[in-house]
Amino acid sequence: MNQSFSFKKYLRFLFLFLFVFSGAQKKFTVVLDAGHGGSDFGANRFYSETGRLNEKDVTLAIVLKLGRMLEKDKDFKVIYTRKIDEYPSLLDRTNLANRSKADLFISVHCNANTRSAPYGTETFVQGPDQNKTNLEVAKAENDVIFLDDKDREMFASYDPKSPESLIALKIQQSKYLESSLLFGSFVEENFEKKDKRFSRGVKQQNLHVLRLNAMPSVLIETGFISNYDDAMYLASEKGQSEIASSIYDAIISYKKTRERNAVKNVEPEKPVEQPLKNDFRILLMSSPSKYVAGDPALKGLNYILTIKEGGFYRYYYAVTNMASVRDNNLKTAREAGFNNATSISFVPNQKLGIGYYNIELAVTDQKLSSNSPILNTLKDVERDKVNGKFYYTYGKFSSLEEAVAAQKELEDKGIKNTVIQKVAK
Ligand SMILES: [Zn+2]
Repeated sequence: MNQSFSFKKYLRFLFLFLFVFSGAQKKFTVVLDAGHGGSDFGANRFYSETGRLNEKDVTLAIVLKLGRMLEKDKDFKVIYTRKIDEYPSLLDRTNLANRSKADLFISVHCNANTRSAPYGTETFVQGPDQNKTNLEVAKAENDVIFLDDKDREMFASYDPKSPESLIALKIQQSKYLESSLLFGSFVEENFEKKDKRFSRGVKQQNLHVLRLNAMPSVLIETGFISNYDDAMYLASEKGQSEIASSIYDAIISYKKTRERNAVKNVEPEKPVEQPLKNDFRILLMSSPSKYVAGDPALKGLNYILTIKEGGFYRYYYAVTNMASVRDNNLKTAREAGFNNATSISFVPNQKLGIGYYNIELAVTDQKLSSNSPILNTLKDVERDKVNGKFYYTYGKFSSLEEAVAAQKELEDKGIKNTVIQKVAK
């Protein structure tokens, strides 16, 4: 106990030393990434006022304006992933950022929707978890993961199931998530308060261009090319300058906060945030309906854990044992439109005194045939008939964690969209 305490003190001293003798001298390096480019036009629409309006041109114009603002200040070093109309692969963009040991990575994009109604801005940070479902959502959401051949090779070799890559990712993400969220919230606040735009908030999303970055990173959707008013704004000198200037101000605020915290962290009486005893999930809603990942009812949020209890599906968003992250998650949920979202505490690995958890595999009107994938893959599936419906369940677990682990195993076997059920008896 004592030993680890003095080791912490030593670390703080070391950081103070590094901060004073090197950190303070170092320029704050920002990588500016104009989305798309070259043969990848990104989102595009034809308007009589602009001709074909391409995302790749808007993002480059904003990034060049922002870069010029930063370059006027000698405290900043600016690195561009592109300054002309070309397409650097996503891997090239990540490698450039990591090699330059940048302090911040900002990828600038424009949104698009099949409908013309959606408008406004949103900022994405790399989410805290990693699974295929989220990738699919990210793919469907928009265009940001255009993959060229080199990227495809790189990301194909990346196995999200391998424990090593999972551990590496988790460390990386928890390390930069808070900073990314902080910067993202500055950006969205400026869009909303200064530029009077509609902010759709800061969201966690699984995006290739952010995933392997070893620094706080955000992807900013500066507006919808598919919405007429947004498109005219994005195409205009005024709109591009306002966007660039709002991002610039956010960088300044972020840098100041970072410097304040760096000084604070070396004060011995100011402890670093300690993890809480309990885990916290954000309860989004209870509903008699079952929604699977990507359903519009979930309003674009990922990392959903569904627990069925007393006939109702309870939808929980994200999980953390850090108070600051919990508060951020709650904010994200409310901004997504879950106005009554609340944070719920879970005692880790708590064994249920009464009752148990199981996994609801399927609810059907007809009996599953004996060669259905579920009955073929699993032994010991239980079947109940209630009010004319067949309920297929599996397993008996005394803690939520055991049930979650079993659910993951089922997913690996191809049995998806199952729900953890709390059975009181
Ligand atoms: Zn884009």
